[in-house]
Amino acid sequence: MSTAVARARRMLEGTGRHPVVSLYLDLDPSRFATAPARATQVRSLIDEAERDGRLDRDELSHTDRTTLTADLERLEAYLGSDEPPVSGARALAVFCSGQDDLFEVLPLPVATPATVVIATTPHIEPLVAGIDEGRVAVALISHRSGRILVGDLAELTEAEDISDDVHGRTSRGGLSQSNYERSIEADVEHHMRRVAEELHGSWQQERFAHLALGGTAQDVDLFTSQLHNDLRPLLLDGRLDLEVEVASVADVRAALEPLLERAREAAAAAALAEFENRIGAGSRAARGLEDALAALGERRVETVLLAHNFAAQGVRCPQCGLLYPEGTANCPADGTATVAVADLREAVVQAAVLQDASVLVFGEGSDPAPAAVSRGGGIAALLRF
Ligand SMILES: [Zn+2]
Repeated sequence: MSTAVARARRMLEGTGRHPVVSLYLDLDPSRFATAPARATQVRSLIDEAERDGRLDRDELSHTDRTTLTADLERLEAYLGSDEPPVSGARALAVFCSGQDDLFEVLPLPVATPATVVIATTPHIEPLVAGIDEGRVAVALISHRSGRILVGDLAELTEAEDISDDVHGRTSRGGLSQSNYERSIEADVEHHMRRVAEELHGSWQQERFAHLALGGTAQDVDLFTSQLHNDLRPLLLDGRLDLEVEVASVADVRAALEPLLERAREAAAAAALAEFENRIGAGSRAARGLEDALAALGERRVETVLLAHNFAAQGVRCPQCGLLYPEGTANCPADGTATVAVADLREAVVQAAVLQDASVLVFGEGSDPAPAAVSRGGGIAALLRF
């Protein structure tokens, strides 16, 4: 599970009764690189939040109302300061609820449209939609250096820096040229093996799901031959073309992004193919709102597939929390009168995260979602059983 998904889940579990402000800030460097430009964006988002009608303020308790006002002021002051971790991030997500003792800030590695939502739960779709690639490791390797970075695209940190004393290219007395070259080769091999062992040790300590290698093609090939068999299936397609000794974490992140993007596209295509197979076979797949909600209610969902433009209203049973299509007056499970859910899409995403299901969104802009997903009205699911 990525850091963002884990945090989204924790926030969902700690909220539900009081107003939560969810604010996504666009950090696109071509438009919002400067603090004043960001301040203007924050101001207009907060104005929008003040007008947002999704939460009826008249229905809030006095304490909820005054705390919400304080929360909005706090957000504006925070985002106008030097404190937010904006460096290297494409977007920033901030969740604030004074009543729920919540103030979470997450730098996001991918561009995310600016938005603000006030509801009794955090708005999490932008955090969790997409392939959850989990932890990623990067090994940068040269003849004498080895650097290991671990984390995810948003929070990649240097874990190990290994330098080995491999002889320089000047010839040494007493060794013939061929012996000398053999001794260098042995030293390089020893160094590569040492880095490979460190990498394997790091994986044993805390697993990562993907591994990217960087350096010259020749060094990466040499290193790959020393790689433990446990790690080979984790290798991402492609090589990070970086100068091992001088590349910054930001350089590594930028080079890693297209490799992860390719892996995500492949995983999304695989999920779609799997869905079509299962629908064809009539097993472990749900298509359409009613079936998808029923499967969520039974906690059978493995992956929710959404069309990018899927939107719906629905209802929720306040007793058991289950979601139903619009027009269901009483909960079929316990007979309780249901309450309206204006943003059923977000409610579905939240229900998915709470049962450890992933959420994939298909289609973008004017590109429609694939027929397999849009045929059921833009919502479908892969089921665990
Ligand atoms: Zn119920």
